[in-house]
Amino acid sequence: MYFGVITLFPEMIDAVTKFGVTRRACENGLIKVDCINPRDYTEDKFGNVDDKPYGGGPGMLMQVQPLRDALRVARSQAPKDTKVVCMSPQGVQLNHSLVTDIHSWGSVILIAGRYEGIDERVLQKEVDLEVSVGDYVLSGGELPAMCIIDAVSRMVPGVLGDLRNAKEDTFALGLLHFPQYTRPETIDGLKVPEVLMSGDHERIRRWRLMQSLGRTYERRPDLLENRELSKEELQLLKTYLEQRNMN
Ligand code: SAM
Repeated sequence: MYFGVITLFPEMIDAVTKFGVTRRACENGLIKVDCINPRDYTEDKFGNVDDKPYGGGPGMLMQVQPLRDALRVARSQAPKDTKVVCMSPQGVQLNHSLVTDIHSWGSVILIAGRYEGIDERVLQKEVDLEVSVGDYVLSGGELPAMCIIDAVSRMVPGVLGDLRNAKEDTFALGLLHFPQYTRPETIDGLKVPEVLMSGDHERIRRWRLMQSLGRTYERRPDLLENRELSKEELQLLKTYLEQRNMN
């Protein structure tokens, strides 16, 4: 999976290549992350990449020329026909389905905005999709770009030691993840549920599925609206709710 990132702060994106799952993915050649800095391509003699907005108002905007030239370089380094995504609080909201789509593209160029954003004409002419990480405003698009790199990398076969991990993650099955426990068996009087120590794989599977369904029902009922439950799932959810009401 190829990621090109247009950013004024490549050092931020470097963190992806230095820590955890994404570091190993880079080292194993499963993902590649290239940064292209518009400041390296500005024709401004003082090295500026921003300017005042027409019509007035606070803050500065990223100019077309350095961005467009950085994009040209990014496109030349990326596989042919790579799509361009601009990070923006005004974009479609990132979710599991979009992460899966981006993974299916095989490559993507991400634009991380700074200042008060970027000149609208770059969006009109160069960008395929604007993506938001939520209804709040960050100071730059680097963290959102890193969210995409991290989440998409998890989809790449071989990046997680055991691909089941990604398939069982929250949202992958349209449900939240079940609760998880590690040693010790008891802490502050709280015990690990007995079923998880039973060694009975079928019981454990059913318990986990029931917890996933119950959690999703309680915390994210919207996820269940678009998901048809199987007969087993309906029965497990019913049992979960009965047990909850008894406690
Ligand atoms: N003035 C802009 C507005 O109100 O829409 C916000 C600009 S923000 C300070 C600077 C850059 O951060 C944006 O161009 C975008 O790349 C990035 N950014 C901020 N919040 C974001 C979010 N929620 N999702 C994705 N990118 C975001």
